Amino acid sequence: MQNFLCVLCFVCLTVYMTTVLGADENFIFGSSALQALDLVDQRSVTCVSSPSGRKAFQVAGGSGRLYTCFLSCHYCPCPAFAYTVLRRNGGLLCKHLLAVYLCQAMAVTQQDSVSDQQMSALLSGTSAR
Ligand SMILES: [Zn+2]
Repeated sequence: MQNFLCVLCFVCLTVYMTTVLGADENFIFGSSALQALDLVDQRSVTCVSSPSGRKAFQVAGGSGRLYTCFLSCHYCPCPAFAYTVLRRNGGLLCKHLLAVYLCQAMAVTQQDSVSDQQMSALLSGTSAR
């Protein structure tokens, strides 16, 4: 049943990403999508929120590195994002952002709350989290 749900969400998300975000199908059905599904399976996505209502998503990459992604401005600090989105300007998603979208769609995002101070450290990239 869980797999069935997963496939359903994935189809919806694919339509959403191709139509709304402009990602291309080759990307969505390529290896990044599989890697993103792995991240979802491993529950690697954590939504961090602060009392003032700010939100960020932390994704644990394969190497154990934590990437802090922002859905609001569609940003991930990983090299793949810099290459595919910023340099090629292709409107693509890296596996981390894709994993965040998938986790949100499937409601399997882990929740964590931090203080406003910790959140500003996170946003400014000075946090060791
Ligand atoms: Zn990324």
